[in-house]
Amino acid sequence: MVTRSHDAHRDEFNPWTRIATLIEEAGHLLKLSEGMIKRIVTPERILEVAVPVRMDSGEIEMFTGWRIQHDSSRGPGKGGIRFHPSVNVDEIAALSADMSIKCAVVNIPYGGAKGGVKVDPEVLSREELERLTRRYAYSISPIIGPDRDIPAPDINTDPQVMSWIMDTVSMLRGHNLPGVVTGKPLAIGGSLGHAGATSVGVSICTVALLQQLGRRAEGQRVVIQGYGKVGAPLVKQLSDRGMKVVGLADIHGAIHVPEGIDAQLMASHVASTHSILGYPHGEEIAASELFALPSDIAIPAALGGVIDERVARSMSASMMIEAANGPTTGEGAAELARRAIPVVPDVLANAGGVVASYFEWAQDLQGFMWERDLFRQRLEKTMHDAFDSVWARHEQLGLPLRDTALVVGVERIAEATELRGLFP
Ligand code: NAD
Repeated sequence: MVTRSHDAHRDEFNPWTRIATLIEEAGHLLKLSEGMIKRIVTPERILEVAVPVRMDSGEIEMFTGWRIQHDSSRGPGKGGIRFHPSVNVDEIAALSADMSIKCAVVNIPYGGAKGGVKVDPEVLSREELERLTRRYAYSISPIIGPDRDIPAPDINTDPQVMSWIMDTVSMLRGHNLPGVVTGKPLAIGGSLGHAGATSVGVSICTVALLQQLGRRAEGQRVVIQGYGKVGAPLVKQLSDRGMKVVGLADIHGAIHVPEGIDAQLMASHVASTHSILGYPHGEEIAASELFALPSDIAIPAALGGVIDERVARSMSASMMIEAANGPTTGEGAAELARRAIPVVPDVLANAGGVVASYFEWAQDLQGFMWERDLFRQRLEKTMHDAFDSVWARHEQLGLPLRDTALVVGVERIAEATELRGLFP
């Protein structure tokens, strides 16, 4: 369990233990003091709230929610809110620490935070979902705000849920507060250019890694797991850059299209059938064969933990970009490292989404909406700069990109923590 005691027993399969250990290792590599490492690892604030909801039946049901602020040395907390039956304090704490690292790696002025409610939203009516969201927002409202902690969508939360949170906190404070959450609809302070921003970051990292390896983008064969908010725009963006998406999977199955998927045709096929299966070209394959298909680039863009030792051993691609969060297990990462397959880690590769959130928040604070082109230009520059700084450090340290990104993130957090000193 997430603990403030540094020496407490740690379960190696616990997500909190995983990230705490990684931060400690990066701290040791940077030769930080034990005190500084403890300060960086330990979450600043853990709020657990009871969320009573009147169900449509008239009965009251109790849910449990959390908001965890991991580190605020570089700026207000930033991180999503998930509604899921498996949510627990260790998972939220681990994700909040991931956010601290991610925001530091892309060098945006945020700390890390995360929230969630242990609930299955599938079984709630829309009215019940709204009441749950508003009560949870009320309960965490003392610790969130544009200059304290800014939530965003995550699993099972969307722009509508963000709108309810924004409205609830605005009502409580007595004035409009669009900057309290990001991922809002355009009509209430959302941003042009936000949709597809994560995929833009993934594409930039893909091309940047190819360049560093002395390879051209044209003709590279890509396999992608996931055709959702990240995977679908990615098929188009990579095809536009001359790559061929030869393998694709969604929850229904996987397909092999040796001549490359036509992004437009796939988009209209999925719009009408809700599945990638039945795409007019190529052949259906077993989902387990996706990453073994002859290819040059692998992009997991769906689930966590899918690149295990077995998949890593049979992977055909010679580089991997982690669009999903936490797609690679420890054993999978070790096998990829053994095979010298470079991996752009999730904290860098999928950070385009949080950069877009930062831009939305900045516009809300300014009360001034940016043009789509300006948004895109700044997103591209931020992602290029982030990749370049991780790559430069990777060459200097000779560590895999994953460890290097962690070192870059921890180093920036340590610098801010050191500069600010210790209150009182
Ligand atoms: P999504 O729900 O929009 O899409 C998920 C896709 O994965 C769908 O195509 C679904 O069919 C597919 N999928 C689900 N189970 C599968 C399985 N067993 N095998 C193959 N495919 C499966 O989700 P998303 O927003 O695209 O997020 C995908 C990943 O990217 C997640 O790990 C998420 O945490 C991460 N991520 C997303 C964003 C973002 O901006 N949306 C930002 C950062 C990270």
